[in-house]
Amino acid sequence: MPAPVLYEVNMKQYILALDQGTTSSRAILFDHDGRLCALAQEEFPQIYPQPGWVEHNPKDIWQGQLKVARRAMEQLKLKAEDIAAIGVTNQRETTIVWDKESGEPVYNAIVWQCRRTAPMVDELVKAGWGEKIRAKTGLIPDAYFSATKLAWILDQVEGARQRAEAGELLFGTVDSWLLWNLSGGRLHITDQTNASRTMLYNIHELCWDQELLELFHIPGSVLPEVKPSSTLYGYTDPALFGGAIPLAGAAGDQQAALFGQCCFAPGEVKSTYGTGGFMLMNTGREAVSSQRGLLTTIGLGRADGSVEYALEGSVFVSGALVQWLRDELKLLDESPDSEYYAAKAADSGGVYVVPAFTGLGAPYWNQYARGMMVGLTRSTTKAQLIRASLEAIAYQTADVCAAMEEDSGLALKSIQVDGGASRNDFLMQFQSDILGTVVSRPACVETTALGAAFLAGLGAGFWKDRDEIKHFWSVEALFKPQMPETERARKLKGWHLAVDCALLWGERMKEE
Ligand code: ADP
Repeated sequence: MPAPVLYEVNMKQYILALDQGTTSSRAILFDHDGRLCALAQEEFPQIYPQPGWVEHNPKDIWQGQLKVARRAMEQLKLKAEDIAAIGVTNQRETTIVWDKESGEPVYNAIVWQCRRTAPMVDELVKAGWGEKIRAKTGLIPDAYFSATKLAWILDQVEGARQRAEAGELLFGTVDSWLLWNLSGGRLHITDQTNASRTMLYNIHELCWDQELLELFHIPGSVLPEVKPSSTLYGYTDPALFGGAIPLAGAAGDQQAALFGQCCFAPGEVKSTYGTGGFMLMNTGREAVSSQRGLLTTIGLGRADGSVEYALEGSVFVSGALVQWLRDELKLLDESPDSEYYAAKAADSGGVYVVPAFTGLGAPYWNQYARGMMVGLTRSTTKAQLIRASLEAIAYQTADVCAAMEEDSGLALKSIQVDGGASRNDFLMQFQSDILGTVVSRPACVETTALGAAFLAGLGAGFWKDRDEIKHFWSVEALFKPQMPETERARKLKGWHLAVDCALLWGERMKEE
């Protein structure tokens, strides 16, 4: 990627990565050697107005992100001029609509996990739009993506449609919302990776798709301008950090992690264990179409306007299952304690947990499946339930991995992991066992933020090229498969039976 040299590279400067995740906002400072030098993080409230609905307050997102950015800078006593550039990465698909003048959101952010528009998607598929949407956007029609969420806000919030048509409202995914606020309302942009998750963007023609905009009744005036993932977009409002800082990188969290893991070559794969679970394979200049329920998506928007594609398996609930054990069932004080309990149980005692809280994503794509615990007996222990939950996280990734191997025709020899739950050694060993594949955990598991930093650093000319940043990546732990093949097959068989139960439940309940 050719990087414009904007100024003399000052090796003493830092890159500030803003990582706006589903459960927390993080700000991380990386130095010129790619070392993580400061991190500030804050969780923010999840809003569940009805079963299956998930929202965030956009102001919590912006204020929380600003606060952690300032805190990270304070930790190193940095001023605006010490920051070479800011890179933004974000929970994808989450949809925000706000007033162009006042910056007031017209409704809460509708989060990617939210199922409220599932019936709208059913109707589209019934009307025969499924294949067309897939061909244009690379996505399998689902309430997960932004299009139906945006349509819902315009249709359901009083006055929203008229105001949108009068050009008063702006739509954005979380990257747009942050960049708009960071620039003091000057930039209304998104990058190609985020655009590719809206179900409104044509990933082959690289433009908002007119036919889909008409289908969802979206006025063009609400849409952000689509930019490369790594280029100088503009500057922060000087009032925010005491000086203007270049804004030079943006990508959806999973694509940023793929970049942060230095998966630059076609065939390289990363697997993230955050709130959701996401496995992405770089497929280079080729948009590989999946036969097995994976998504074709934009992996990176290059500065020259071209793109690199990725194949993606999205699992809706991964680390969030542990969070549920902690917050709802109160089985854990802290998420990392799950490792202690899992190790305490010799096995899961035949228990399987299917965390289909918001339906099932790849490779099943069923909007109506719901959570399932099967195989319970009177002797089932708390430790076994926790162990079965961690195992479920690994099984889901194994299903995606199998689909990816079939689609790509490649047998994966190793996967690179990251995300909060990848710190769990039990989970990573079980993942390696159940995949029969080496799992490699990098020294810096904050690869999402690292990816955003790489993009911003390249965009601002702070780093020269990919070869330079590749040296920043190193392995911290390798997990090698140890489970006998017969045991692996037996466990996977049990898991697939449990998934069948969750699917059957969903189908029967839908018929009711
Ligand atoms: P996101 O970026 O989606 O907000 P993170 O990558 O920060 O998510 O991961 C947080 C998720 O990982 C939470 O759902 C949390 O419960 C889970 N988690 C964090 N640490 C561990 C751990 N050691 N073991 C299991 N799960 C964990």
